[in-house]
Amino acid sequence: MIDCHVHTRLCRHASGTPLEYVAAAEAVGVEVLAFTDHLPLLDGSETGYAMRWRELPDYVADVEQLRRRAASPEVLLGIEADWTPGGEAMLREALARHPFDVVLGSVHFIDGWAFDDPDLVSRYEEWDIDGLWMRYFNELADAARSGLFDAIAHPDLIKKFRFLPSFDPSALYEAAARACAEAGVAIEVNTAGLRKPCAELYPSQRFLEICRAHGVRCSVGSDAHSPEEVGYGWDAAREALLAAGYDSVVFFRQRAAVESGIA
Ligand SMILES: [Zn+2]
Ligand SMILES: [Zn+2]
Repeated sequence: MIDCHVHTRLCRHASGTPLEYVAAAEAVGVEVLAFTDHLPLLDGSETGYAMRWRELPDYVADVEQLRRRAASPEVLLGIEADWTPGGEAMLREALARHPFDVVLGSVHFIDGWAFDDPDLVSRYEEWDIDGLWMRYFNELADAARSGLFDAIAHPDLIKKFRFLPSFDPSALYEAAARACAEAGVAIEVNTAGLRKPCAELYPSQRFLEICRAHGVRCSVGSDAHSPEEVGYGWDAAREALLAAGYDSVVFFRQRAAVESGIA
């Protein structure tokens, strides 16, 4: 079992210390655990979405210390970074300052709106939902092509609150999968969707099948925001992957993909 997406209390909307996550991972049999707390926002704003820039070195040091232990689980140092159009150079520079094993790329914002924030859900009313989905998947493809990320996290996060398009989104999934395949970027099967109003994995089974058809590799993460969520939904993720035709997943060590069988 791998879990390549967990947070810590540093991001201000999660609880638990890195050590508590490691202990939880060990208890449920997670063999590879990647910490991927939120990179501070590029504009320097101090929000409830991410750690502060001044905290990043301590985060790195804390996880690195756990990474050096020989015991199971293997601990990896990662970060979840927001796709910020126009901020590519700054992000590249920030990521180069630390020895990350894995960088997850996430589309959490559209024109500065954190569309996955339950406190901002009323703003969906301002959007044509079909247009919003097209916009979201355009951003996702741009993120994949940027070369900044190893894997795209929760690749259909836009479905979180069940504002669904009027059309079959398969063409959007196709375009996103093609962008990931061409860029050599993995997608993440993220089990947090099971805990949210959409009540299914990110990505949907259809999207996952399309990724498989394009040869896109998959990682798996719980997106745990508390130690009790580590390893959450692994069986559901594994079943979905097997049903889509995958027999292995990947995790990243020093930004290189390592295959791990699931069959
Ligand atoms: Zn995220
Ligand atoms: Zn996350």
